[in-house]
Amino acid sequence: MNATLSHEDELLRASVRTFLDKEVIPHEEMVDQTGEVPEEIGREIERKSKELGLFAANLPERVGGGGLNYTQMSIIEREFGRTSHALHSWIARPTELLLACEGEQVDKYLMPCVSGEKRELFGLTEPGAGSDAMGMQSRAQQDGDDWILNGMKHFISAPTMADFAIVFAATGVDETKRGPRKRVTAFLVDRDMPGVTFREGSKCVSNRGYKTYELIFDNVRLGPGQVLGGEGRGFELAGKWLGMGRVWIGASCCGKAERLIALATDWCATRKQFGQPIGQFQATGFRLADMTIGLRTAELLVADTVRRADQGIMRDEDAAMVKVYCSEMLNRVADDTVQVFGGMGLVEEMPVQRLWRDARIERIWDGTSEIQRHIITRSILRPLGA
Ligand SMILES: Cc1cc2nc3c(=O)[nH]c(=O)nc-3n(C[C@H](O)[C@H](O)[C@H](O)COP(=O)(O)OP(=O)(O)OC[C@H]3O[C@@H](n4cnc5c(N)ncnc54)[C@H](O)[C@@H]3O)c2cc1C
Repeated sequence: MNATLSHEDELLRASVRTFLDKEVIPHEEMVDQTGEVPEEIGREIERKSKELGLFAANLPERVGGGGLNYTQMSIIEREFGRTSHALHSWIARPTELLLACEGEQVDKYLMPCVSGEKRELFGLTEPGAGSDAMGMQSRAQQDGDDWILNGMKHFISAPTMADFAIVFAATGVDETKRGPRKRVTAFLVDRDMPGVTFREGSKCVSNRGYKTYELIFDNVRLGPGQVLGGEGRGFELAGKWLGMGRVWIGASCCGKAERLIALATDWCATRKQFGQPIGQFQATGFRLADMTIGLRTAELLVADTVRRADQGIMRDEDAAMVKVYCSEMLNRVADDTVQVFGGMGLVEEMPVQRLWRDARIERIWDGTSEIQRHIITRSILRPLGA
């Protein structure tokens, strides 16, 4: 494992791994086959993760969270990546956006998410506005002190039905140097408010058992206390969440790649053809070498980026580079592992096909590889005025 970890961080890594090996990995096959996490198993993981101090480990101690820094969180996220997303996501890492809660919002939304009494959704994507988030049709119009919200979100994910959503909606238009731009506001919207519908959406073949929801808002009346972080600050807030979220995806891709490489290595050493282990054929053995180089490079990129985040100097393009590199590395590793396994890589009884399916989502959610490359290109060309 990573020889550069401090003794304390190595203990953290080992305790998370032991927990996941015992509480999560034994359920993975069943969850993938049924497409469901039984409520009692999810709650058990939730309860035991609280005892271990893993629940809400990302949030500061002042609000009751674990107070881990970004480097430590990357260690946890890497370990989570080795295991089923549908199961480990019961160990909540509430979005840091909730730290923007003020006044009564703190007790109504932030604290219950830290304790696990409530769960939140992050509602940005719409059927007609995915990569182009600014194309959103959801709108909130002012009515006295209130706002009237209309619109729809889809692909909004969570391990189980949530209590409320952070919903992004246009509340006007700002004039900017680059022309008119939608003013976007984040709202805290409870599932049981009149005019709100949360319902299960399409099932995804990556991470079976992890749910996506559709959120429908039909003339939902929201008081001023439902605005999160101030009117017009929605994208500023979303940007904060998306940046670290992309780094966590990178860390988790490293964990999944480690697991795939272990399977591929074992198969290369034990599967014999033409009277010798298949790893002795250069075409197969070199795949292992390339997988290992890819993983090591990705780990270094994550480690450098979380160090920048801990120092408060991480930029959007840093997070974008992690997301692109690690997710594409994982997909190469997953595809190569299937190839090394031959036909056995695709049979349902073997874990390889599941890890291969699970890897695919990583190049899509939280901004596709193409969108990450746009962010990186922009950071290179903008200083030159291009
Ligand atoms: C399982 C799952 C969970 C999700 N969870 C959430 C969630 O909790 N909250 C949330 O808000 N969203 C969530 N999403 C949405 C996710 O972030 C989007 O799917 C993603 O951003 C891509 O949007 P899209 O699917 O609409 O693809 P599109 O935007 O339609 O893109 C289709 C293709 O066109 C390419 N493309 C689009 N624009 C450009 C461009 N300018 N240049 C080059 N190529 C381009 C894309 O890269 C992609 O290859 C989730 C999605 C999934 C599948």
